[in-house]
Amino acid sequence: TFSLLAVDGGGTKCRAVVADVRGGWLGEGRAGSSNYQSVGQDAAAREVSLAVKAALTDAGYAPERDGSGGVKLGCAVFALAGLDTEQDRTVLTALVVEVLHGLDIQVDRLIIENDGFAALLGATDGAPGVLVIAGTGSIVYGVNKEGMNCRAGGWGHLVGDEGSGYWIGKKAITAVMKAEDGRGRPTRLTERLLSHLGLNNAEELYNWTFSPEYSVERVAQLWEVVSQALNDGDEASRLLVEEAADELYQGASAVIRNLSMENEKFSVILQGGVLQNAPYLRGLICGRIRSDFPSAQWDSAKKEPIYGVISMGLAHIRQIGLHE
Ligand code: BGC
Repeated sequence: TFSLLAVDGGGTKCRAVVADVRGGWLGEGRAGSSNYQSVGQDAAAREVSLAVKAALTDAGYAPERDGSGGVKLGCAVFALAGLDTEQDRTVLTALVVEVLHGLDIQVDRLIIENDGFAALLGATDGAPGVLVIAGTGSIVYGVNKEGMNCRAGGWGHLVGDEGSGYWIGKKAITAVMKAEDGRGRPTRLTERLLSHLGLNNAEELYNWTFSPEYSVERVAQLWEVVSQALNDGDEASRLLVEEAADELYQGASAVIRNLSMENEKFSVILQGGVLQNAPYLRGLICGRIRSDFPSAQWDSAKKEPIYGVISMGLAHIRQIGLHE
């Protein structure tokens, strides 16, 4: 059977879809975070494998090494968070090959890309565009009319990912500790964060950051608490969200300028769990891009990145003239 496997392996979740050569969904599977930079290679491989297996099972295939010759797919696109350098590409290619082997899947074409890059190419179908992703991690990718592409940000939770859920969550914890010391003003975040995590005081919050409960993903989820405190009128939360908007805007602006797109029409797409669910943040970024780059066109469809990954696979299938 010739079909397409599309995997969006993000920092929050891993989603896999098996589709036919026209893009019709045959099966879908989901698993947890698969950014190997934050969860490690073993956990990332396990989550990717779980999602792919679930999608194949949902589509009626039996992804087991049962000696039946396995599953044959025309094209597989793995769009993976954490693919930022050549070294990452080597690690992740080996990881994907291992996952496919473990599930007895053979593919004619294997494409492995950064999650943002794949989502952008799929979403714009090669037309000029800029994609800003802020979920657990963040990144900005752009492609211009000459087909040149460029990225900004996305350099992981430790030193980068400005404006992401993790970045917002970590700064929220810092704001609570500062308020506790009297170095920062009191914030509604204290009460909201503590109750969200089931803790009693700032000292327990500090202990939590060094406990086994702590993970990049859990810190990233704290952006929702910031969003609630913002709705309560909390000033620290407002400043934090404004800083996130500024960081993401700076990323978009750098990409637009680096690709000399200022005077050409290009679409702007905002994706990822944070950007899709934070209207104030979206509004701030949109406002700044609109006023500085009037040629920007808005793609307001709140499509999830997996659609872009599927489109990227379909473009490949068309290119190589694959038939059912
Ligand atoms: C990763 C990037 C990824 C971005 C968005 C960052 O943490 O380093 O590779 O594109 O998150 O998922």
